[in-house]
Amino acid sequence: MSEEHFVVIGNGPAGNQAAQTLKEKAPEARVTLISKEREGYYKPCLLPEYMAGKISEDQIYLSTVDAYKEKGIKLRSGQEVVDVKPRRREIVLDHKEVLRFDGLILAVGGRPRIPEPLLVFRDLMMTLKTLEDAKTWIEKISRVDRVLIIGGDLTSLAVTKALIALGKEVYFMLDENAFWPLRCNDDMFQDVSDRLSKRGVKTFYNCKLNSMAQRSEHAVEVRVGDDIFEAGLIGAFFGLVPNVGFLARSGLPLDRGLLVNETLNTGFEGIYATGDCAQVFHPEIRDYWVSIGHDNAKALGRTAALNLLGERRPVDVATESLFDVQGIKVNTSWWMEF
Ligand SMILES: Cc1cc2nc3c(=O)[nH]c(=O)nc-3n(C[C@H](O)[C@H](O)[C@H](O)COP(=O)(O)OP(=O)(O)OC[C@H]3O[C@@H](n4cnc5c(N)ncnc54)[C@H](O)[C@@H]3O)c2cc1C
Repeated sequence: MSEEHFVVIGNGPAGNQAAQTLKEKAPEARVTLISKEREGYYKPCLLPEYMAGKISEDQIYLSTVDAYKEKGIKLRSGQEVVDVKPRRREIVLDHKEVLRFDGLILAVGGRPRIPEPLLVFRDLMMTLKTLEDAKTWIEKISRVDRVLIIGGDLTSLAVTKALIALGKEVYFMLDENAFWPLRCNDDMFQDVSDRLSKRGVKTFYNCKLNSMAQRSEHAVEVRVGDDIFEAGLIGAFFGLVPNVGFLARSGLPLDRGLLVNETLNTGFEGIYATGDCAQVFHPEIRDYWVSIGHDNAKALGRTAALNLLGERRPVDVATESLFDVQGIKVNTSWWMEF
């Protein structure tokens, strides 16, 4: 019988951990790790510090491309999966190659969320999700003095810190959707606003974004409430949503993310989803929850790999650690101080 072939899609903390666990527990199996990003495994949490010039590119990598060879994992970086055919046990890559698998773990993470009313301004706003995004920020930031941050989420605070360290003038528009996935009340908004102001950030709170218009290569005119000003760059930070659009025709169960049971199984034998892209069933509350955060992703990646190898480990999340954000149950391992 030929060796088993396990495929992991995604080389973030969840996918990387899943691939390593598979190889460690089933050394005889073939493990392929596919990532549309060209780089090795890096820590997204370090991107704001990299942007600020506090650490070099080398310092954000946790595993280089060569390290996978040594571990016996075949890394296919810079390759995008465009479809999954669960019944045929095949995945389709963007260059039309079809790859067969015996077991599959989807760990495709999230993508930046832009709320519907702001979609019209999409091309005028930047986000920060990948190393490539961070490089784009670095390239553009040197040419501007003022940056407007809209949103946001926890990343927006880290980016604001980085911008202050770079000597930029920062305007911050606290949106009503701000700090997703955390729940915020008026007191918390006031607290964040005070902290930002103390650091010299001009904050707008409870103001409507009326318009944005490109005035020159490095200036966008923004109207917020009664204020009109120009910003060199605008960052949109509204959290991440599961990156599952490419699976729409796959037949895999989708809602907000990839629906899985408490053992992270998609309902198809040998096919699991894990990390930020999964929506996990919780038997006690009879509802699904999503995970956000680096440490959660790693733990979920390991559980998916063990279950693919035959265990039946449920993901153990205490009901009191789940909170409700706009009707979605969320569990996060992420917190930071500003
Ligand atoms: C700037 C930033 C700062 C953050 N800071 C913190 C922090 O301080 N603390 C914290 O706990 N969390 C933080 N997070 C969140 C944390 O990084 C995520 O929760 C975590 O990375 C999720 O891991 P994941 O493996 O599920 O997904 P991701 O890390 O999103 O990885 C997804 C992987 O899938 C690949 N992929 C996606 N689609 C395809 C496809 N179609 N084909 C092939 N490959 C594909 C991507 O290239 C990537 O390799 C931060 C995130 C960002 C972006």
